Amino acid sequence: MKPKIAFFDFTGCEGCQLEVLNFETELVDLLNLVDIVNFREAMTERSDDYDIAFIDGAISTESDIARIKAIRDQAKILVTIGSCSSLGGVNCLKNFYPMKEVLKIVYGKDAKYYNTIPARPVSAVVPVDYSLPQCPVNRFEFINLTKALLLGKKPERPNYPVCVECKLAENGCVFDKGGTCLGPVTRAGCGAICITNGRHCWGCRGLVDEPNINSEKEILKEHGLTVEDMLKKFRIYDGWLEVSK
Ligand code: SF4
Ligand code: SF4
Ligand code: SF4
Repeated sequence: MKPKIAFFDFTGCEGCQLEVLNFETELVDLLNLVDIVNFREAMTERSDDYDIAFIDGAISTESDIARIKAIRDQAKILVTIGSCSSLGGVNCLKNFYPMKEVLKIVYGKDAKYYNTIPARPVSAVVPVDYSLPQCPVNRFEFINLTKALLLGKKPERPNYPVCVECKLAENGCVFDKGGTCLGPVTRAGCGAICITNGRHCWGCRGLVDEPNINSEKEILKEHGLTVEDMLKKFRIYDGWLEVSK
């Protein structure tokens, strides 16, 4: 019998599920190996009988907590896809303001009809087996992880900083041009795509393990910065780390 997989969305733009759907050829191959039983963005049929759950979006309401717990109870393997579900992502920017103020800014006079709690990654509520942070999720990583799970192998993920891929791509360093970049502390795997396209790294793949001891942090030191300085500067994806300390 084919494993049953399900996709669930929480707070986010759902761009990660769209990114999975964009992978048309590989998705057709994947359908030969699994049954997709729940995928709101792609199909109307729904089933609560699944083996692997892929989660898109952060947890940001009390009802989200109950829902993710029920999914965790059912799924043998739970995987977060994208920065929102894996890191909290952009949703955590609201955590730096009082929740009542946030509701008023967004809903105005109708704020009383809504509830909200500080946004958090899925791992802050239930155990997560694997995470694929990136905004949107890296579809090649998604396919590779799914293949590994189907083969019963442990999925690998890089534990070196984006700087390594940036140098391999022969990019000039953003710091040398007077800018700032989270590449020295961010987990590689995206091919340094943002720098290659003329921007800097915003940290959407989360931190490498032990960012304070990786050799690329020397780039920050050369420019008079510390890992802590950079995390404050780049709350956009990693704000949860700051507020959850
Ligand atoms: S990680 Fe990015 S693309 Fe995915 S849901 Fe969040 S904001 Fe959207
Ligand atoms: S700091 Fe940014 S621009 Fe400089 S090498 Fe690292 S990833 Fe590339
Ligand atoms: S370069 Fe940085 S911000 Fe851009 S995709 Fe890679 S990790 Fe994310």
